[in-house]
Amino acid sequence: MKQSSVEHFRELLLKMRKDIMNHMEGIRQEEAETSLREEDGDNSSIGMHLADQGTDCMSQAQNFLVVEYESRVLYQIDQALQKIENDQYGVCDFCGSEICGNRLEAIPYAALCLKCQEKEEGMYNDSYPDRDFSMADEDMGEYY
Ligand SMILES: [Zn+2]
Repeated sequence: MKQSSVEHFRELLLKMRKDIMNHMEGIRQEEAETSLREEDGDNSSIGMHLADQGTDCMSQAQNFLVVEYESRVLYQIDQALQKIENDQYGVCDFCGSEICGNRLEAIPYAALCLKCQEKEEGMYNDSYPDRDFSMADEDMGEYY
């Protein structure tokens, strides 16, 4: 891959990384505030506390899912940055062929080419065993 393209994707990756870090930091602060509220709740506020609890629990569960998802993306971004360092960026981890530029534009941290990605997903979901890989470009949006 051209050095200028690599730089372009490095910037994309670093920006994504920063956005995710900021977002996760926001969630962490939110959670710290929530637990602070819970700690200084005395008996007189128990009624109110219980009323609050439902919504707190729900948003905490949602936050947990978001943080879990974002940690995974963060890990993949770090892997991709590592590949840039090693001059391996844009090369499929599985088969070693080049990952196409459109795919990297949509998912700069993609570690696998489309074919290998589909194959790997096929291991968990074989409802489309004969799917034509050349048609698969459309569903890239779901990673966002
Ligand atoms: Zn591959």
